[in-house]
Amino acid sequence: MKYNHILVRFGELALKGKNRSYFEKQLLQNMKTTLKEYSALTYKRTYGRIIVELNGQDHDPVVKQLKHIFGIHSFSLALKVENDVDEMKKGALEVLKSHPTAVRTFKITTKRAYKPFPIDSQKLNHHIGGYVLTNSEDVTVDVHHPDLDIRVEVRETATYITSGAYSGAGGLPVGTGGKVLLMLSGGIDSPVAGYLTMKRGARIEAIHFHSPPYTNERAKQKVIDLTKILTKYGCNINLHLVPFTDIQQHLHKEAPSNYQMTLMRRMMLRISEKVANERGILALATGESLGQVASQTLHSMNTINEVTNLPIIRPLVTMDKLEVIEIAQKIDTYETSILPYEDCCTIFLPPESKTRPKREHANKYENKYLKVEEYIEDAVARTETILITSKSQTNEIDDLF
Ligand code: ATP
Ligand code: MG
Repeated sequence: MKYNHILVRFGELALKGKNRSYFEKQLLQNMKTTLKEYSALTYKRTYGRIIVELNGQDHDPVVKQLKHIFGIHSFSLALKVENDVDEMKKGALEVLKSHPTAVRTFKITTKRAYKPFPIDSQKLNHHIGGYVLTNSEDVTVDVHHPDLDIRVEVRETATYITSGAYSGAGGLPVGTGGKVLLMLSGGIDSPVAGYLTMKRGARIEAIHFHSPPYTNERAKQKVIDLTKILTKYGCNINLHLVPFTDIQQHLHKEAPSNYQMTLMRRMMLRISEKVANERGILALATGESLGQVASQTLHSMNTINEVTNLPIIRPLVTMDKLEVIEIAQKIDTYETSILPYEDCCTIFLPPESKTRPKREHANKYENKYLKVEEYIEDAVARTETILITSKSQTNEIDDLF
């Protein structure tokens, strides 16, 4: 027996009242985009479900990709049969017989989503269960802890038989929550922040500050690679690469050393805000976590945050590093993040940074030593934007050495 359908269940979407159909349509759209290479698939949206017909396509790669799509609570491989009790019986038996591991106990759970169907779910359970029992050997019914729970879902036009379910990625469909500009370094944290931001339905663009020639092509390619990994969770991503060398050199030469890191962060935020404004983006996201490093104490955040009115989403703010690493490993960014290339933040900067920088000092130094507006204009004008898709070229590290 080969499963011929996949039954996709929504999570939180169901709570969205009138917006429900908007969320469902976006989810369907995202599924079609993610799965477009499997051209045999066809889709149907019914109440509370999206039903994918495999039409001969092998389900393994489809299952793998479905696990990444936000807005899906769970999904199951399904055998579609007609709304006919005999068909349901045969289907349930087939599902049991083709189960990959030995089954000693089972249970039938019928759900009559289509109420006009004339037999209620209790009776269906009995009919189908009785048939499976008499047509298989060494198997008994256990309604409490069965090896296999065979679910029979009676819908208006057909019945779908499933056993077991895969967990979906949860969250909300990407595209239902506006757009966020992710400040993406080459580190472990910010890609995770991008993933979690998309999980709440936002599309993202990414902005990265680099300092050529002090940061090299490989460091840039690493950020492209990280962005590419993020595309598999929902959308193509515009990556803005901001040349930051001049600003860092100004800071290095002109600003007091213990405020350089604070002033550098403030410049990054101002530039990010300008790029966001130009593109109609309403919020920024970072991988900051409270207290992790000098720039992420509350005093630092307070002083750095002063320069923008945009909301800053910090999905990791209360997480421990180990929790972040666990997510990074799960979403496949970790191995790329730990490649040892220079980050622009680490060059030029003096070893000591203030953990309690003050707003008034930061403002005073900027007024005294820096041509803030001019630097921002110049950096934004020279920013390079690349559209990253799941097909973008990845790092051929050997070629670059
Ligand atoms: P990450 O692991 O994301 O690099 P981090 O723990 O190294 O974070 P910081 O270096 O203090 O922390 O950076 C804090 C946040 O500032 C990052 O998570 C990221 O959002 C942003 N950021 C840092 N460096 C850059 C950069 N070169 N380009 C864009 N954003 C950056
Ligand atoms: Mg970093």
